Amino acid sequence: EFVQAVTMPGSNKSAETESQLSASDLKKMSIEETRKSLPIYKFKDDIIAAVRDHQVLIIEGETGSGKTTQIPQYLHEAGFTNDKMKIGCTQPRRVAAMSVSARVAEEMGYKLGNEVGYSIRFEDCTSERTILKYMTDGMLLREFLGEPDLASYSVMIIDEAHERTLHTDVLFGLVKDIARFRPDLKLLISSATLDAQKFSEFFDDAPIFRIPGRRFPVDIYYTKAPEADYLDAAVVSVLQIHVTQPKGDILVFLTGQEEIETANEMLLERTKKLGSKIKELMVCPIYSNLPSDLQSRIFDPTPPGARKVVLATNIAETSLTIDGIVYVLDPGFCKQKSYNARTGMESLIVTPISKASANQRAGRAGRVSAGKCFRLFTAWAYKNELEDNTVPEIQRTNLGNVVLLLKSLGINDLIHFDFMDPPPHETLVLALEQLYALGALNHKGELTKLGRRMAEFPVDPMLSKMILASEKYKCSDEILSITAMLSVNNAVFYRPKDKVVHADTARTNFFRPGGDHLTLLNVYTQWAETNYSTQWCYENYIQHRSMTRARDIRDQLEGMMERVEIEITTNAGDTVAIRKAVTAGFFYHTAKLSKGGQYKTVKHQQTVMVHPNSSLFEELPRWLVYHELVLTTKEYMRQVIEIESSWLLEVAPHYYKSKELDDSSHKKMPKQTGKAKADMHKHS
Ligand code: ADP
Ligand code: MG
Repeated sequence: EFVQAVTMPGSNKSAETESQLSASDLKKMSIEETRKSLPIYKFKDDIIAAVRDHQVLIIEGETGSGKTTQIPQYLHEAGFTNDKMKIGCTQPRRVAAMSVSARVAEEMGYKLGNEVGYSIRFEDCTSERTILKYMTDGMLLREFLGEPDLASYSVMIIDEAHERTLHTDVLFGLVKDIARFRPDLKLLISSATLDAQKFSEFFDDAPIFRIPGRRFPVDIYYTKAPEADYLDAAVVSVLQIHVTQPKGDILVFLTGQEEIETANEMLLERTKKLGSKIKELMVCPIYSNLPSDLQSRIFDPTPPGARKVVLATNIAETSLTIDGIVYVLDPGFCKQKSYNARTGMESLIVTPISKASANQRAGRAGRVSAGKCFRLFTAWAYKNELEDNTVPEIQRTNLGNVVLLLKSLGINDLIHFDFMDPPPHETLVLALEQLYALGALNHKGELTKLGRRMAEFPVDPMLSKMILASEKYKCSDEILSITAMLSVNNAVFYRPKDKVVHADTARTNFFRPGGDHLTLLNVYTQWAETNYSTQWCYENYIQHRSMTRARDIRDQLEGMMERVEIEITTNAGDTVAIRKAVTAGFFYHTAKLSKGGQYKTVKHQQTVMVHPNSSLFEELPRWLVYHELVLTTKEYMRQVIEIESSWLLEVAPHYYKSKELDDSSHKKMPKQTGKAKADMHKHS
């Protein structure tokens, strides 16, 4: 039950006349008319002139005003591109890079990947001809490795700057530096919200170009009491809106793929039960792992008489604009990385959003007409519990990846790097220590040969170390498959609600002694042996799309192996070798069995548990290495393998001392060769 509390006013005087444009009117407009109807259109010439006049420009404009799709086109039309120079535009999210470039290609009448393209990790959809290139901020960061002065760009747009992702924050420092010795490079920093002043100050008082927004009033409703189960409440509310409210599509903000899939199933189930008693409800999920053909469904016009409900992650907060949304349902949560710099533990946590975020979300309801936002939390909670702003990612994440990249760019003094908001000192120090323990840096903090090779891979340092270690253990073939599978891991097994028992049996049939990495390897190998059969995936409750993605990733990684001159060798029978290679990368993530089925991390004595989906959930070996931690009701280790403590001394002699690994409760000291042999025997 909701109570109305406030109305968020519209922000534009012409709102009255424009509110007569309904969502379906907008749909009918031609591409050209749509482009001209965007708030940014009136400022086309002014923007072009401002870019001509200033090297760095901050652009601020309401979400949906046309910044991302139009500015690159305007600058292209104004002659900022030629056969040597292109325009780049970064996006924090891969979905946005893909979707926006597809839209721009369509608007310009090009095939995506030719003149207009995108580049995201493990997927380069550009060509020699590309003049407008959308890319994730992480990809631009990697481009610096090959082209430190961005010589092939005439304009670089750092878009969605307000998101303040780790990579965007690092880019700020890098592009600011480059602009100094490339006076011909134009730099645009574009943002949806009120941070423009801060960006301007950082970029030596660069001028701010404000695009007046078009926003209609949004009524905001709160729940009277807190919701115990916001997912269920969200589903119920969607149906309520559907039944009681006039036409207009619904946007629901959820925290991730699993939640979205669950809500999707619940909605399908309940609408099926209601049958013809209600009008058609078209449910469209959108999250980053969703295959691109399904992603674009959110933009399909809603059939007459029906209603569309988009189940989205944060992606729909500012990165993507879906026309026709009139109702926003906001449970008030998002999934956020959180990092403990003392223990080095990073986990994904479902966290309450900030006020700024809640207001952005609400604003999505007022784009085409007056709208309504239903918040699944109380007005009191909004006022007293939500932070004003989201903490920038750089202050709550592991910096290993970025530090390795900056070191590879020759930036040695990270303490004095030009950060807009510097990361906590201890986080930076810990990243340096970890890279040292991995062997990527020497004791002076300089990049080693190993570190240089690690930086070739667009993955976390622990993963790249694992890949490089596979050379020594002669199992690069297996490690590549494991890396690829870990990159899609939470979407490998399919578990439909009505076939839970079958799906679980199928999953456990893939289990291999030694742990989950070997199980994932087993899935991949079996699938490859069927010649990548789709049918096989269906029969075994494996998500075919995830597998094809893993295969793509694997192919790309294999290509990168040439650059670091590692041969692809297979050593499938030797699970000790494979697990040692994993341990060589992930020795930080070691936990030891303590009492009551709980584990303690070795260095910091944190209590963690084996994830119930793990093949080792019942075995509980004495020592194990985990891939990642997820915090739900408890801190769970997801993807674990069994190891011997002696391996730690072998793979990380800088990091572990034998007395730390002493099994006092377990009399016999691990003797490397003997133990390893016994282990091989056990698992062969
Ligand atoms: P901004 O970057 O200012 O938030 P965008 O340039 O992303 O705005 O979006 C401007 C408009 O372009 C949207 O309101 C929508 O009408 C249209 N649009 C963007 N992407 C797509 C898409 N993939 N399909 C259809 N329309 C789109
Ligand atoms: Mg945008």
